[in-house]
Amino acid sequence: MEQLVLPLGLPPDLSEVFRRVFHRLRIKSPVASMDAQFHAFAGLRSTISVRNGAVKAHVSDLLSDASPLVLEGLAEILLARVFHRRPSREARECYLAYTLRPAFRQRVDVARRTRGSKRHLPARGRHHDLEEIFHSLNRRFFHGQIPVSRLGWSHKNSRRILGHYDSGHSAIIISRRLDSPSVPRYLVEYVVYHEMLHIRFPIERRGQRRVVHSREFREAEKKFPRYELACRQLKHLCA
Ligand SMILES: [Zn+2]
Repeated sequence: MEQLVLPLGLPPDLSEVFRRVFHRLRIKSPVASMDAQFHAFAGLRSTISVRNGAVKAHVSDLLSDASPLVLEGLAEILLARVFHRRPSREARECYLAYTLRPAFRQRVDVARRTRGSKRHLPARGRHHDLEEIFHSLNRRFFHGQIPVSRLGWSHKNSRRILGHYDSGHSAIIISRRLDSPSVPRYLVEYVVYHEMLHIRFPIERRGQRRVVHSREFREAEKKFPRYELACRQLKHLCA
């Protein structure tokens, strides 16, 4: 576990930061209370909710030594989300500049690895075997060159997120929804293939932007047999 270096002095009063930004944005909605706290999420994640006028925010504790400006940027992004505003460009850039630094991404990965519990089911499902599918795809399309340390089905029966590559754990997790007799094998193959491409073509950085699906990625994706049919059927499945 890497050491967290705290700045000298008191940690920032997050609720105060949120109140300040709330006033600056001149949001008219009545708010009864504003409570913001750091929270040890498994990764870089922050949440906000409003219930009966009470605003509650949880900010990733990986940001606990970020400067007040960065925290204000994030507060603006989160408040804008629940009060239907657009966060300013400055706020977004300030937050992104901080969280995209390689040293920071590394900390996020470490947190994911060390905090993330086993959040998936074994690779051999009831109807489809991810291990077997992965190895056959690896042979057919990648000369067996794609490394992965974990494969599994998600606990959640998600129809929104059908697959996910977690670089922190080097894990490919596929939605349990696809482990069904009504889902043909080639559809599962397509989702696994997509996640394998995330290993083959890691996220690129262009200035402030993170390019998740680069042009090379998209082109490689089209090489999957019956690619268009697979896309159509998946859309249908998620509808
Ligand atoms: Zn993707």
